[in-house]
Amino acid sequence: MAYQVTLIPGDGIGPEVSEATRRVLEATGISFEWDVQEAGVTALETRGDVLPEAVLDSIRKNGVALKGPLTTPLGTGFRSVNVALRHSLQLYANIRPARTYPGVRSVFDNIDLITVRENMEDLYAGVEFDTGQADTKEVISTINRLSTRKVPESAAISIKSITPENSTRIVRYAFDYAIKNERKLVTAVHKANIMKFSDGLFLKVAHDIAKEFPQIEFNDRIVDNMCMQLMQRPEDYDVMVMPNLYGDVLSDLTAGMVGGLGVAPSANIGETAAIFEPIHGSAPSHAGKNEANPSAMILSGAMMLRHMGELQAAKVVEESVASIIAEGEQVTYDLRPDRDRSKGAGTSAMGDAIIARLNG
Ligand code: NAD
Repeated sequence: MAYQVTLIPGDGIGPEVSEATRRVLEATGISFEWDVQEAGVTALETRGDVLPEAVLDSIRKNGVALKGPLTTPLGTGFRSVNVALRHSLQLYANIRPARTYPGVRSVFDNIDLITVRENMEDLYAGVEFDTGQADTKEVISTINRLSTRKVPESAAISIKSITPENSTRIVRYAFDYAIKNERKLVTAVHKANIMKFSDGLFLKVAHDIAKEFPQIEFNDRIVDNMCMQLMQRPEDYDVMVMPNLYGDVLSDLTAGMVGGLGVAPSANIGETAAIFEPIHGSAPSHAGKNEANPSAMILSGAMMLRHMGELQAAKVVEESVASIIAEGEQVTYDLRPDRDRSKGAGTSAMGDAIIARLNG
């Protein structure tokens, strides 16, 4: 039986890294039936909509999608298709592993961290009031009537809301992930000392859920301390779970610790659908030149295999990518110590090298 998977090649470097990824995944011997869908600026040109309903229908039907990066045009009033996809499909958990790959220039060694970021709420819900507007003044006067702390009348306001339902769901996901992936520790990251109600709620939920998983160690860290600890003792941490904003910041921090975007995959998981995609964007300056690094998208494909239960194939893909990067010969120019474009392998050649290693 072939797995039915929605494939969104994306734009910019997306089609090139997607094609390399498709070929690597097929070389594992697992059968796929790809339902290729266009979204973003490509879909806008061909179908007049950045997120056609057919894309969402396909992902709902297949339950799994592999996605290349999509450009968000600036200043055109288009909302981010990436955010719209996550919200439409209720992909509540954003998983970002950060792992050291020998051969990638990085400040830290031996990093193996997982950020589990809540994807639905917090300051990203988009509930905002602009400075000086009539609605904003009404909100401020209500707050000032109800609260002993006063908000200045000229303030712009962004609402941070944290619910017990979403906190429970994301923390439970982090513990389930820890068990399935043989991890030992879950750390809840928060700022409950200042945001006593919103982050306080998240922290209380985390402590309650932790009791259901006695086999996994649990602790919590205030977000600023967490940043310092990651710089000083990253080996003390394992799986970290947190509300949306902290997850956004910390997952870029951990990606930076392992050498940046080139090797940073991610998963967006919901109850009925999941999308796997590299963290990097469409890198327009590299588009169409067969020079973009396909590793992050291939590693996202490996996360997809793991999600499907194809653990052995996932492991072989990850090991093949790691060994090609470690050798440093058949890699794209960004992975070379000299960053010499003329000596770097092309996107497709790096894909070929990974395929040869899979089969070797
Ligand atoms: P970007 O990730 O595209 O590029 C940042 C830097 O990293 C650039 O120097 C780029 O050349 C380099 N880079 C990124 N991926 C690379 C790869 N695979 N190989 C070699 N070099 C690579 O970020 P940006 O420039 O801020 O964004 C460009 C566009 O992508 C924007 O429209 C943005 O909205 C979009 N974007 C989409 C996603 C997504 O689809 N999930 C994520 C981030 C940004």
